[in-house]
Amino acid sequence: MTPLTRDLCDFLDASPCNFLAVRNVAERLENEGFIGLDFRNRDILEVGGKYYYTVNGSAIIAFIVGEGEASEGFSIIAAHSDSPGFRIKPNAAMLCPGRILKLNTEVYGGPILYTWFDRPLSIAGRVLLRNGNNPLRPVSLTLKIDRPLLTIPHLAIHFNRQVNEGNKLSKQKDMLPVLAQLSEDMEADDFLLKLIAAECGCDVADILDFDLSLYDTTGACTFGADNEFISSGRLDDLGMVHAGLTALLATEPAGSRTRVLAVFDNEETGSGTKQGAASPVLDMVLRRIVEAKGGDEITYQQAVADSFMISADNAHGVHPNYVDKQDPTNHPSLGKGPVVKINANCKYMTDADSSAVFRAICERAGVPVQYFVNHSDVAGGSTLGNILTSQIALRGVDMGAAIWAMHSIRETASVADHAYIVDAFTEFYNI
Ligand code: ZN
Repeated sequence: MTPLTRDLCDFLDASPCNFLAVRNVAERLENEGFIGLDFRNRDILEVGGKYYYTVNGSAIIAFIVGEGEASEGFSIIAAHSDSPGFRIKPNAAMLCPGRILKLNTEVYGGPILYTWFDRPLSIAGRVLLRNGNNPLRPVSLTLKIDRPLLTIPHLAIHFNRQVNEGNKLSKQKDMLPVLAQLSEDMEADDFLLKLIAAECGCDVADILDFDLSLYDTTGACTFGADNEFISSGRLDDLGMVHAGLTALLATEPAGSRTRVLAVFDNEETGSGTKQGAASPVLDMVLRRIVEAKGGDEITYQQAVADSFMISADNAHGVHPNYVDKQDPTNHPSLGKGPVVKINANCKYMTDADSSAVFRAICERAGVPVQYFVNHSDVAGGSTLGNILTSQIALRGVDMGAAIWAMHSIRETASVADHAYIVDAFTEFYNI
């Protein structure tokens, strides 16, 4: 495994959910001298300085202040921290015959449900603890339980002989995970909270609330005769988060343009939260940078007009079993380079201008480019690029790595593509 692929797999394994992904990005940034800022403060930003803001612990905007004029544009890479899956509901305990304790969960985004059956699952997220007399600022801890803790058992085929002819699933009935078999003296209601408290090293009474998700404890790996593929959960979109972060950290120290990495939350549910791409948070950060250089509102507009954004989110690689699902002339393949995503009805922000820019960047980096357009009879997805441009009128391109099985518990990407994309992103930041 190349060092880059190893690093990607380590990042994916350490980042089972949005909160952990953002914490890991922040840690890596701090190790490289980036300073964490807080919107509540009026911080002084210095030219050449490396900073980041987090929002809700689940979105992060990192930047290196460029040496150019305040009106000089930003070079922005945007991606998202969240992935489809299951969130644990409040009062989740459901005690079943045999004193089997299962948990009530809610689906987040659009996972492929049946890929979640019969896996060794665990729990990750954040836990909010009482903070003395300050109810406005509870203590937030990230939690990742590192051992297999739950599973969602599938029904035996003997109870549904037609299961392989199509099996409609109920999110409320079929998908609930088993956590424990309780002895007679154990209470079901606070079992989960006791387990969380033990993991956090706190009392049950200290826990005010939590955001906890299920994740697959089976780690990321490569496969294929030449280890040319990567198999992991959350490649959409942590693969692109990792590529953007790697490029930002590899960028040359002195640069004229301000380089920005923006990782938003809640892309999978429409981006409409304070930590999502539809919020004004990127606008707030860019304004602070322009202001720190002495610019005013017009300067800010000049900087925005001079900016370019790469909205990095994965694309559908042509699937060996479903070639007919793809457009007849634009079907990107795994391993053949980053994919520019195009849609005539503007589901993507790409236009010929921004596509040309990205292609020129890739040419400079010696990286091949592919194009994705929907089969005209198949409705496609969308991503955060256009949502962001409703906040800030940015030029930009939608692109990503070609993957298989998008929104499965494990997706497949290409080792070669990840290296190509890191090279293209690094070239972009160094312009
Ligand atoms: Zn995505």
